[in-house]
Amino acid sequence: MVRRACDNGNSSPGQKAILTSTPVELTEIGLETGILTNERQETVCSCGKQKWKIEARNNHCQYRCSCRKTESVVARDRDIFSQKRSLFGALWLWCSPLNVSPDKGGLVLGVDNRVMRDLFDQFRSWLSPLVDQLNDELLIGGQGQDVEMDEICFRSKTLDNCVLWVRYFAMVRRGSSKVFLAQLPYRVSKDFSFGSIQCEVHIKPTLSYALQELASVLRRDDGSFRLGAGSVCHTDSARAYKQLGVEDGPLFDGSFCNAKELKGLKLAHTNVKHKPPKPEFTKPFDVPVWQGIDDDWEVETRIGGTQKLDGFFASFRRDVGRQPFNTTGPTPKQADALEQGLHHRVRAFQCKFWMSGSDMFRVVGSLRKKERDDPGRASWSTLAEYLKVAEQCEQPKKRLAPDAGVGLLADSDRELDAGESQCSLLFDDDE
Ligand SMILES: [Zn+2]
Repeated sequence: MVRRACDNGNSSPGQKAILTSTPVELTEIGLETGILTNERQETVCSCGKQKWKIEARNNHCQYRCSCRKTESVVARDRDIFSQKRSLFGALWLWCSPLNVSPDKGGLVLGVDNRVMRDLFDQFRSWLSPLVDQLNDELLIGGQGQDVEMDEICFRSKTLDNCVLWVRYFAMVRRGSSKVFLAQLPYRVSKDFSFGSIQCEVHIKPTLSYALQELASVLRRDDGSFRLGAGSVCHTDSARAYKQLGVEDGPLFDGSFCNAKELKGLKLAHTNVKHKPPKPEFTKPFDVPVWQGIDDDWEVETRIGGTQKLDGFFASFRRDVGRQPFNTTGPTPKQADALEQGLHHRVRAFQCKFWMSGSDMFRVVGSLRKKERDDPGRASWSTLAEYLKVAEQCEQPKKRLAPDAGVGLLADSDRELDAGESQCSLLFDDDE
């Protein structure tokens, strides 16, 4: 999926600046964006003075105190830069929308590809918990707003003749780039071979289990809801989703997950049938939509389907899925590490998607600055200046005329990504 480039007026130092600046200039860029800790302001030397100067060396630079003690310019930023050289080029490339691999990035910067891979890993492990936090803060939808929900899964480790799948649930308001993503419990499929015929049997969860899963991602740990009241939800025909618009159904009556409050959500719901022989992708539906007061519901025509998430998942799979995420490892410990690596990639991808149109290099700087000043308190307000940009880039979409949207959207994405639809059918429990 191609995102529009957007001129946002606070663009980062361009490629030329990054690739041609001296180490001292790069350090200044690091300080100015908030990526680097300002030693001059924050650290007193062991001699008791605080008179740090930036001093150029051959291909790097360092701080030097008036007592002659020196310190690396990245001494306080080892969490992302383990190297002595200030490798801003690596961070800049990682932040750019070019999706440069560590190997290619290494060629561009003249740095060993193992060094680049380690740096990229460090950028992701630093960012991932912050994205967890921002993700948890999201509130999706609201009265009368169209919200799409769907799942994606990745093949994980093989256990005997079973395969474990890592799954993610996604939810987004149409017209927003703020996709909410939560990991769902594993699912298992079983491989059988009969001579030359191979088949996979998927162990289908009970409806009650699937509903518990759904309820668990709709609320935060403190019991509050991630989904705004009165949202119009669009999904495929998985059985659990079908309960979203049934106010007296088992999702809302408190029979599990003590979620009686869910009833207050007053959701509307449409579902398209992805299954052959006539797979549906988008289709108009007449649904009762809550009007925001009392028990006032009115029938409105809305376009069903998960076309926005289909586009998100297509790029998600290209970016995350093509990586060696497979968690098959010789030891369980290694499998866990690989799966954690997958999660970090997922979160990094999600953050870049949220911020597309904005300058990721500056986003990283703002988050680092916030974490230094007020640890653990990064929030959406930290990113407010970029969100204005993201919203400008997200051109307001005219609501489709009821008969205009059918089969029109996301066809090109769909063609690009045959593997995607195959996989979304994998655990499909369409009726
Ligand atoms: Zn000193």
